[in-house]
Amino acid sequence: MSVKVTNLGKRYANGGLPAVHEVSFVAETGSITTLLGPSGSGKTTVLRLIAGLEEADRGEIEIHGTPSVHLPAQQRGLGFVFQGYALFSHLDVRANIAFGLHVKGEAHKVITERVDELLQLVQLQDLGARMPSQLSGGQRQRVAFARALATRPRVLLLDEPFGALDARVRIELRDWLQALHAQTHVTTILVTHDQDEALELSDQIVLMQTGRVVQKGAPHELYDHPASPFVASFIGNASVLRGHVSGGRASFGASSVAAPGGSADGASVQAYVRPSDVKLTRPEADTPAVSLALVSSLTRVGGYVKIDLKLPTDEMMTVQVSRAEAEQLRLAEGERVIVDLGEAKVFVGDYTI
Ligand code: ADP
Ligand code: MG
Repeated sequence: MSVKVTNLGKRYANGGLPAVHEVSFVAETGSITTLLGPSGSGKTTVLRLIAGLEEADRGEIEIHGTPSVHLPAQQRGLGFVFQGYALFSHLDVRANIAFGLHVKGEAHKVITERVDELLQLVQLQDLGARMPSQLSGGQRQRVAFARALATRPRVLLLDEPFGALDARVRIELRDWLQALHAQTHVTTILVTHDQDEALELSDQIVLMQTGRVVQKGAPHELYDHPASPFVASFIGNASVLRGHVSGGRASFGASSVAAPGGSADGASVQAYVRPSDVKLTRPEADTPAVSLALVSSLTRVGGYVKIDLKLPTDEMMTVQVSRAEAEQLRLAEGERVIVDLGEAKVFVGDYTI
C-alpha cells in the first residue's frame, strides 16, 4: 500500500514560516521511507498530516490509492508508534496490545490468538502479564509496536520510536525493527534525526530542511551524490575545506580534486570530506613538507582509528582508518602524511551551513 504525498503544506496558527512547504514523496508498498532532518525541519508535522492528527493547508495525501487528506484519522488504516506515545500504565502488556482489537469489537478468541501471535512477533512471549512499569524502555517500545500492528494497519508511522532510549538499546532495536519489517512487510514511514538509523534502515530517505524536501532517494544516492552542501554536511559527518578552482582543479592547499563541471577559474569551492573518504599515504623522503598534513591527534575507537589532521592550509580535518591501516602507515601523533581527497564532494560557492 503506497502512500503518495503531493505538495503538502502546513502553517501553524502562530504564523511565521510554514512548518511544511510543498512536500512531495512516495512511500512504496512494503518499503521503509525515512523522513530525516534536523530538529524543527518539519518531519513530525508531515507524519501528523499523514496520520490525520493535523489538517493540511494544501496538498494531497493518497493512501493505497484513496485520496485521504479529508479522511478522519481512524479511517486511514494506519498504526503509530511515537516516542512519547506511552502505554496504558494500568493495563498489562496483553491488554495494551489488545486495546485496538477491543475497540473494533473483535471476538475474545480472535483477540487472544492475535495477541499471542504479536507477542511472538515482537519477541515478548513470556512478558504478557507484566505491567508497563515492569518493563525496560526497549521492551515498552516493542509492546508499542505490537499494539500498533494489532489491527493490521496498512501503513506504520514511526516518530523517533527509539528516541528516548540509550545508544546501545537504540542500535539493538534498529536490528530488531529490520527483522520485524522483514516479517511483516508493512509500508513504513519513519521519522528520525539520526543519520545512521536512516542510512541503515531505509529503502528511501526523504531529507528535510526548514519544512522542505531537499533531496530524496536511496541512502547510497544521498551519501554518494549529495545535491547540496546541506545534504553533504548532514549525511556523513563531513569536515569542510575551503579552496578555489585553478586550472580545472578544485584546489585545497596541497590537495586537489576535479573541479565541479562548469566552474570558472578562481571560483570559491568547498569540499565536504567524510572521515572514510580520505586516503592517507606515507610521504617519500623527497616529498616537500609543505604538501603534507600533520597528525595532530589519534584516537582508537573500537575497530578503527580517528585521526585529526592539520592540513598545510592550517585547516583541521577528521579522518577515519581501520586499525590495520593505521598500523601499516605507522601513524602516530606528530607524523606527516599525504592526504588524497579522492571521494570529497565539492560545491562551488561560499556557504555556511
Ligand atoms: P521536527 O519533527 O523535524 O523536529 P516539527 O514538525 O515538529 O519538526 O516542527 C516544524 C516547525 O513547526 C518548527 O518550527 C516547530 O516549532 C513548528 N511547530 C511544530 N508543532 C507546532 C505547533 N503545534 N504549533 C506551532 N508550531 C509548531
Ligand atoms: Mg519531531
